[in-house]
This record gives sequence, C-alpha cells and structure tokens, in this order.
Amino acid sequence: MTLGECRTWLIKGIRSESPKADADALLCFVLGCTRTELITESSRALTDAETERLESCAERRNNGEPIAYITGTRGFWDFEVEVNSSTLIPRPETEFLVETALGLFRGGTFLDLGTGTGAILIAIARERPSAKAFGTDVVSEAVRLARRNCDANRVRADIREGSWYEPVSDMKFDLIVSNPPYIDPDDHHLEEGDVRFEPRTALVSGHSGLDDLRHIIGAAPRHLNSAGHLAVEHGWNQGFAVRKLMGDAGFTDVRSVRDYGGHERVTYGTMPDSRAGTAE
Ligand code: GLN
Repeated sequence: MTLGECRTWLIKGIRSESPKADADALLCFVLGCTRTELITESSRALTDAETERLESCAERRNNGEPIAYITGTRGFWDFEVEVNSSTLIPRPETEFLVETALGLFRGGTFLDLGTGTGAILIAIARERPSAKAFGTDVVSEAVRLARRNCDANRVRADIREGSWYEPVSDMKFDLIVSNPPYIDPDDHHLEEGDVRFEPRTALVSGHSGLDDLRHIIGAAPRHLNSAGHLAVEHGWNQGFAVRKLMGDAGFTDVRSVRDYGGHERVTYGTMPDSRAGTAE
C-alpha cells in the first residue's frame, strides 16, 4: 500500500470528529515525517511494519483514546510537550491564561500551581527569560513529566512535588497562575470524548467545580508580593463566582477574559501595592 492509499484508508476508517486531522497526525507520528511530506511522498510504499503500527494506532483512536496520548506529544504556544495519562492534555484555550499572565508579568518570580505537563510554565518562562519559574504538582509522574518537558524546551524551572502551595509554603511570588481541576463531578461531559481518558484528579473538583479554585485564590495573598498578580483558568460559567472569590480575598482590578467560544475562561486580579501613596 502507498502512503497516499493508506491516508485515504485511514481517513475513511477513523471514527472521530476530525478523521482527516487524526489520520495525518498518526501518519506523521508513525512515519516520522512532516504534514507536507504526506502529500509530496504520497506514492512511497509503506512497509508491513508501518502499516501494522498505523492499524493499531487507528484502533486505539477508534476506542476513543486521545491522539495526544497515542503520539505522546501535543503542541502548545510555540513548542511541543510530551504528554501521558498522568495529567491533562494542554488545551488551546489555556493559551488565554498564558496571554493574560504575560500581560501582567514583565519579570520576577512566578509559580504555576498544578503544572501537569509544565506547558503553562514553559510558555511563560520562554517569553520572560529573566523570570524565575516555580511549579508544583501533587502527582509524582506529572512532576517528572514537567521536568522532562522543561529540559526538552531548555527552560530552567524548580518543579516541586506536593499539593498546591505545600512545597513552596514559605515563598512569595510576583505572579501565580493555575489551570486547576474545575469541572463539576456530575458534569455529563466527563463521559464523552477524549476527556474520558484523562485523570479525574486533573479535571474534577467538588462543590460545582470550585473547591480547588477557592483554595488557590484564598491562599494566594499569603504567597504574593505587594502588587503581585493571580490568574486562573476556570469553567465557562464560573466567572462570576471566581471574581467574587478574588474580591473577597482582597484582590483589586479583578477581570475576566473570554475564550474563542465567547465564554469567560480566565480571571485575574492584583494584590494592593503596599508602597502606593507612600512615594515622593
Ligand atoms: N477545559 C477542560 C475541559 O473542559 C478542563 C480543564 C480543567 O479541568 N482544568 O475539558
């Protein structure tokens, strides 16, 4: 079978919302080639070993497994991260969190809570090379994964194992970011699509998905320098609740940012500047 024939066969055989993109991703992964080469090399004959690997990948996809877990990588911002089932696959909407953080933060120290693959931390660290990056995650396998991703993307960071602020209990930062679990345990989306394969610990939080956000926001003032910032990702219908939590915690200039779908997805705030009014 030629590459071109195999591509047509895969596109027909893959049962997902995006058979063409999925077929191309699997072909590039198995054949170790670029998307352009899928077209320019379409008459090249595939070996039996290549065809068998492609068949088994297509079967995994048809069982619902996310493409990123099959290929082991996902693009985020302007780089790639290794992914595995210990943590969430980075989402395009999380780039809004990175953009928001970059708008608030020119340099200094920052902390990414529940860093997972390390995608958010790596994006900020690459854009702010003079900043000192810290990350925490309660899942040891995720900590190892984040460290590997930092190394692969030549980012220096201090990634520590433990729950939220626990591993940095005595430290303060200029920026704290987090994409915590925020889905309600009863949300039916958890039974659909790629999300079924991701760990619940990275997705679900109690009390309408707000428990972890409440903890992160409530404890943030103790870990932020004067005029420091907090930016968090949250569910499409949690903007109001998150703004209220930030206001109650003493944050000022609290605002939400909408995602591609027009939903409030990221909320940020700033701690009062203790030097304000004392200058001159
Ligand atoms: N936005 C993701 C989803 O809907 C969930 C991410 C998260 O829980 N932090 O699948």
